[in-house]
Amino acid sequence: MTFETLGLSPALLRALSEAGYNTPTPIQVQAIPLALAGHDLLGGAQTGTGKTAAFGLPLLQRLSKLTPANGARKPRALVLVPTRELAVQVADSIKAYGRHLRMNVTTIYGGAGMGPQVDNLRRGVDILVATPGRLIDHLERGSAKLDAIEVLVLDEADRMLDMGFLPAIKRIVNRVPKERQTLLFSATFEARIKGLAMEFMRNPQQVQV
Ligand code: AMP
Repeated sequence: MTFETLGLSPALLRALSEAGYNTPTPIQVQAIPLALAGHDLLGGAQTGTGKTAAFGLPLLQRLSKLTPANGARKPRALVLVPTRELAVQVADSIKAYGRHLRMNVTTIYGGAGMGPQVDNLRRGVDILVATPGRLIDHLERGSAKLDAIEVLVLDEADRMLDMGFLPAIKRIVNRVPKERQTLLFSATFEARIKGLAMEFMRNPQQVQV
């Protein structure tokens, strides 16, 4: 199996080969074609399996193909993550995979000043990687807008629930358009994760490694 056969665009293939990725990992093999076809995905994968590329590559390809509906560059993809460290890591990976596309990737997380985050949002963002609590702060201040989101990713959803983010996640998802693609990754598919899927997803395809 190669990244070519998964249906990725030349700009992404080039970035992958520059990153030294030769072969897709099992979660990438399963998830990428389904996500590229527009399905909602329930992905069972732990850190280290290559799950960031499994959602990041299809997300980038989708944003690069469809013309943005907004001239102001409101975020078109939102990736929710449990921690600041993961936010930085995921944003760095998406920037690397998207280096031949013109995408602005911005992080929002707690424990850092609001000001620089507000400035970044004002400059225009295509892909927002955020922790739920701080994103709520930005929504309340009106500095983040979610009405142009086309792809929503919940990464490490089980950890976000462990950290008590369920109410914040619900408030955030309520501000995201219903017409969207939703990708949810979790190490486990316990009942509460299935519950999230039932509530937020449309006919999700399940993939697991
Ligand atoms: P992740 O599970 O997304 O945190 O990825 C784990 C590590 O594997 C990261 O350092 C990635 O850069 C790397 N990685 C992801 N996919 C591949 C791949 N197909 N080939 C080689 N390395 C990869």
